[in-house]
Parts: sequence; C-alpha cells; structure tokens
Amino acid sequence: EETIEAPIIIIGSGYGGAVSALRLCEAGKKVILLEMGLHWEKAGIPYSNLLKPGKSSAWLKKKTIAPFMNIFSLTPFTGTLDRLEFDNISIWVGRGVGGGSLVNGGMAVTPKESYFREVFPDLDSEKFYNHYFPLVREELKVNVIDEQFLKDCPYYKFTRVGEEEAHKAGFKTIRVPNVYDFKYMEKEYRNEVPRSALNTEVIYGNNYGKNSLDKTYLKKALETGNLEILDLHKADHIQLNDDKSYTVTTQHINTSGQVLAHKTFHCKKLILSAGTMGTLQLLLKSNTINNLPIDEKVGKNWGNNGNFMTGRNWVRPLSGGTGSKQSTIPVGGIDNWEDPEHAFFTEIAPLPMGMDVATALYLLINRVDKKGEVTFDKTNQALQLNWNESHTAKMKENAKYFVRKMNNANGGTRSHFLFNNGFGADICYHPLGGCVLGEATDAFGKLKGHENLYVLDGSLIPGTIGVNPFVTITAIAEYCIEHLINQNEFT
Ligand code: FAD
Repeated sequence: EETIEAPIIIIGSGYGGAVSALRLCEAGKKVILLEMGLHWEKAGIPYSNLLKPGKSSAWLKKKTIAPFMNIFSLTPFTGTLDRLEFDNISIWVGRGVGGGSLVNGGMAVTPKESYFREVFPDLDSEKFYNHYFPLVREELKVNVIDEQFLKDCPYYKFTRVGEEEAHKAGFKTIRVPNVYDFKYMEKEYRNEVPRSALNTEVIYGNNYGKNSLDKTYLKKALETGNLEILDLHKADHIQLNDDKSYTVTTQHINTSGQVLAHKTFHCKKLILSAGTMGTLQLLLKSNTINNLPIDEKVGKNWGNNGNFMTGRNWVRPLSGGTGSKQSTIPVGGIDNWEDPEHAFFTEIAPLPMGMDVATALYLLINRVDKKGEVTFDKTNQALQLNWNESHTAKMKENAKYFVRKMNNANGGTRSHFLFNNGFGADICYHPLGGCVLGEATDAFGKLKGHENLYVLDGSLIPGTIGVNPFVTITAIAEYCIEHLINQNEFT
C-alpha cells in the first residue's frame, strides 16, 4: 500500500471539478483529480449508441439501464451511465472523465433571473447575469441551432411537431441552446463527417460533435501542465487528520470493476466535486465510519429539480407521427413557468428508437415544494433518500394538466407505452442539493466546521433551479473558486 502526497485533491471530474481544476491550475497550483470512471478519450474506446449498446452504456451492469427499452444484455464494463436506485426514485448519473457532460443532453439553459434570485437570495444576481453566466456559456461552447436547418432537417420532426402542438394548446415555446456543435450537426446531416447526434448517440456518450468537459474545461486545465487526472480511482472515504489535512482512501479498479490496488492519498486541501449523490455519499459515509465532522445541514434541502417525465401516444399517427429519424439533441422547450397555477418548463425530448413510435416524450421541470433528505444507512452501508409520492404530488398535477391540454388540442393519449400509468415520477436526471451553499457550507463552498474541505458541485444548489442545471452548477463553481483563490485559501 502506498500513500501519495498532493497539495490539492479534487474528487470528481464533472462541472464543479472541471471548473475548480482549471482555475486552480491557471493560478499555478498542482492538482490531482481522482475520477472513478474511465478517461474515454485516453482509452481510445468508442462510445456506443442507443440502438447498439456496448461498453460505454452502463456502469458495471449486465443489462442496459436507459429509462426505457432495456432489452439489451451487456458484459459488465465501467461505462458512462449509472443508475442509483432508491425507494421511490431512480437517479441517473454520468461516470468517466467529464462526469455528467458525457451522457447528458447538452441542454445549456440559463435559469430565469427572478427564480435564481428566489433560490439564491444572498447572491449578487446582477454579477451572475452580467459575468458568470456569459463566461460559462463561452467556456462550455454553448450555441444555438440554425432555424432554417431545424425547419428542413427530417431528424427534427419531433421538435417541429412538438412546437406546433404546444402552440395549438396555447403554450409558449422557447429555443434551447446546447453544447453540441450545430455546425458539426449540419455537416453530419450532409454526410461530410461521421454521424453522432444523428446516429442515436447521447446517453452512452457522443463520439463527435458534443463539447463535453473533456473538450473544454478539462482540456484547458491539462494544457497548463499542472493537472494530473487519475481515472478508475474511486474514493471510498475520507479522514480528517490532527493537522487538519485529509487522507483519502481509494480503490484503483480495472474496467471490469475489479480492485487492482488500495491507494491512500494525503492532501492539505480537498475539494469534493463527486456530484450531488457522490459528494453526499463521501461525506455521510465518512461521518458514519470514521467520525468525519459534518454540519447537521449535510443531507438536507435535497431535491429532484422537479424532474417529472411524461409522454403522449398516438401523436399524429396518420401524418407520420414524430418521425422515425430523430436527433438525440433536444432544441425545443415549452415555457409555462409564469403560470401561477401550473408552473413548469418542459423539454420536447427526442425518442430515437429507430422507428416511428408516434410518441412524444417530455421531461418536465417543476418547482420543488417539498424537499427531501439524504442520510446514510449503517446496516446497508448505503445512502438513503427520504422521498415519496408526497414530494412529487404537485409535479404530477402539472404533468396531468399539461398532457390533458395537449391531447384536447391535438389528439393523442397518455403514454402507457413509456410508463405504467402515463407518468414517470421516479425518473431523476437532476439531483441537486444536500450540501447547500450558505447552509452546510460558507458563502463560497467551504464545509462548515472545516478549514480545508470544500464542496463544489450540484449539491450546493438547494434542490431546484427551474431549468436543466449544468449552466448554473458551472457558474456557481466559477464564482466560488474565484473567491476561494482570491482569499488565498490555496496558498
Ligand atoms: P457530475 O457531472 O455528476 O460529476 C461527478 C463526477 O464524480 C462523476 O464523473 C463521477 O463518476 C465522479 N465520482 C462520483 N463519486 C466518486 C468517487 N467516490 N470517487 C471518484 N469519483 C467519483 N443537465 C443539463 O443542464 N442539461 C441537460 O441536457 C442534461 N441532461 C441530462 C441527461 C442525463 C441522462 C443525465 C444523467 C443528466 C443530465 N443533466 C443535464 C444533468 C447534469 O449532467 C448534471 O446536473 C451535472 O452533470 C452535475 O454536475 P456535477 O459537477 O454536480 O457532477
């Protein structure tokens, strides 16, 4: 067993970890980043698509774990997508160098300023809308689809139909920016380059076109020469030492998940960016097994960002449905946020099944009226989530209202093809909170009661942000790390 010394360790290479790595490395700091998933680009293994799931499609599972149609068997491999099961909710997360950016839909949405102010009353919203949000949109390479291409491309029939139907039902639609390079997509449509979004690649990774974090923040951080990324290194627990430094116990695994070595890292400064569930797992487990001090607010104020899936069958069956060819990259949304009775935003989501199923899929994002709580169950040595039907009751009401209004105006039925009763209350892509900024941490992400431990990821956001969250996670991380560096926390 070896102990590796490092001044600064970051655990996790998603949005929070990638921002922290870049800004620290630019400031001349040496950083080691531990990531449990694979460095796919370095490994040179291609990602698989939805229709032929292979190595990248699931984290050490024998069967695929997409939200629908899991008919495919697998040889367990350290794939990009994982699903965490709790009593009333399943949570999907990304694994690999780049975290969730490898598997997500790339929707890069800036929250509504009024809601941002409501969620973060203590933050200077003007500074965020004038500086941090524009900054991260540039770093993340956010762009917008060309309207003419959208109109002409058969792969966006689902969006055109979705928008027409929404208008007919009296809803307002918006164009949704994305990190997928739409100029690349136009070229793939013309068959000038290999296809990716138009070849059903997304939740198991994109081989081309998508500006995931390995192509943006992490690439820049590596170019400084100050960053070392250790992939397939899973942090198991952390320990606070008498001199206020930290010891991180990790398992180095191979791509079949077998442990190759137990490695111990020792650092003065530790940043947890393991994603909402990963960071909570590390904090709560370390507290349980070796008394890592944690604030009583850790685990509290957790939410699913109002995620609620629903769908409609028999969508224009006589006029070609939603299309047999579908791009995996969503570009349309329905904005009903200002409706005081039924406030929601929904993505007009693709359902690229390789055939026309005349089905429309929607991922609603609602307010979270009732927050959940994450704890650690000693007996099972696993996270536990206090979350049940009462937490999603209002979300279901909104989904019912939405589907009813759409069907009344356009025809169609509740989707029994996708969900048991037409609703997917238990599908969560956006776990947020549990280590909330200014509650479990100070104003810049330092964990209360600690001098050298920071949390920088989705767990800082109190369970809701009203839109897809990665732009906000990135902006909050930029804000925190800038202040921490300026306060000389890392000298
Ligand atoms: P993550 O991106 O989750 O990164 C955490 C990293 O830490 C992971 O790589 C993980 O492997 C690693 N890690 C965890 N535990 C350990 C450990 N113990 N040791 C070492 N490493 C560890 N958001 C949007 O804004 N737009 C979208 O279109 C969108 N679509 C989505 C689609 C899907 C299918 C999913 C699953 C999510 C989607 N999201 C989307 C959500 C978004 O991807 C997440 O909110 C975001 O990635 C969270 O960022 P993060 O920095 O908190 O952590």
